[in-house]
Amino acid sequence: MSVISLLENQNSDIKGKPYPDIHCVLCESCFWSATSMLPDAASILQFINVCPICNNKSLSLIPLTMKESYKIMIGPRGLEMEFCIRDTPV
Ligand SMILES: [Zn+2]
Repeated sequence: MSVISLLENQNSDIKGKPYPDIHCVLCESCFWSATSMLPDAASILQFINVCPICNNKSLSLIPLTMKESYKIMIGPRGLEMEFCIRDTPV
């Protein structure tokens, strides 16, 4: 099972929707990030099509299930992202 299929199945279990509703938006240049609750990538990119800090157009969208959260840290090896499962969905 692919990661996307797993995410879709988890969200279907939670809300009966086929796709994740939460995305981590990450600038690939300066690592600015935001959490979006817009319904899909097209909607997100309508509002955020460049990084508000460095104007870079390379933004990554990382889909999350309603049960997942993430933490971003800058460590000695560079950008580190930690994903975990919450006890209570959003
Ligand atoms: Zn940036």
